[in-house]
Parts: sequence; C-alpha cells; structure tokens
Amino acid sequence: MLQSIEVDPRRFCKDSQSWETRSEVSAFPRLAHEFTQGELFCRVDGRADTFGSLSLRLTIRGEVGLTCQRCLGSMRHAVLVERTLYLARNETELERLDAMPDSDAILVGETLDLLDLVEDEVLLSLPLVAMHAEGECPV
Ligand SMILES: [Zn+2]
Repeated sequence: MLQSIEVDPRRFCKDSQSWETRSEVSAFPRLAHEFTQGELFCRVDGRADTFGSLSLRLTIRGEVGLTCQRCLGSMRHAVLVERTLYLARNETELERLDAMPDSDAILVGETLDLLDLVEDEVLLSLPLVAMHAEGECPV
C-alpha cells in the first residue's frame, strides 16, 4: 500500500520539486475500492511563476477497470487528468484565483498529502455512474 506523501506545499513549489509514482490501483488506499484492476502513472510538479504564484501541475494517466452499474461486468476506463492547481492561503485568495480564466485553486495549509490530492483528482474525474455504452453490455 502506498504511504502518505506529506510535503510543505509552498516549499515544494518554490524549489520546483516533483514526485511521481507508477502503481497498481490496489496500492492506493481509496482508489483500491473503486477499481477492479489497472495501473496509474501520477506525477506532481511544483512551480513558482515570475509573479510569485505557486502552483502544482498534476498529470495522472492509466487504464483501470470499473464495474458497470447495469450488468455488473467489468469495463475499461481511461483516466487522464492534466490540471494546474494554484495554492491559496485563505478563502479570499481562493476566490480570487478561482475567478481567473482557466485557473483552479486549492486551499492548502502547512502540509499537503500528495497521494491524497492525486486520489481526489482521480475520483473527481470518474463518471457519476459507470456504465457500458447503451447496448454494449456483454450478454
Ligand atoms: Zn455493462
């Protein structure tokens, strides 16, 4: 099982650090319950731009197995997440950053668990109800 990756998010960005893993979905504490099989590649890159804004660039990709909610059979699902998240210190900053075009922000404290963040993003990217396309459930 993968362990928490606790970092100081601001330091992580200021130092342009990065973290990556390629793991079976069964090794992710929360994703293990969602997927029947598959492997995910995850990478997080910290960045500080010339204006001093700190952001995390997330790349997550892989192919996983989901349970179809119509036939309960297995279906393949491609995960592809590419997002840049700006770090906000408080609610005001969060609102300001979120209002900018093509910008997403997250509120972070002194520590951030990168594994948790990656899992959140994968869960958000999933279809609300996983199902084979109409008429494509194997009989
Ligand atoms: Zn189905």
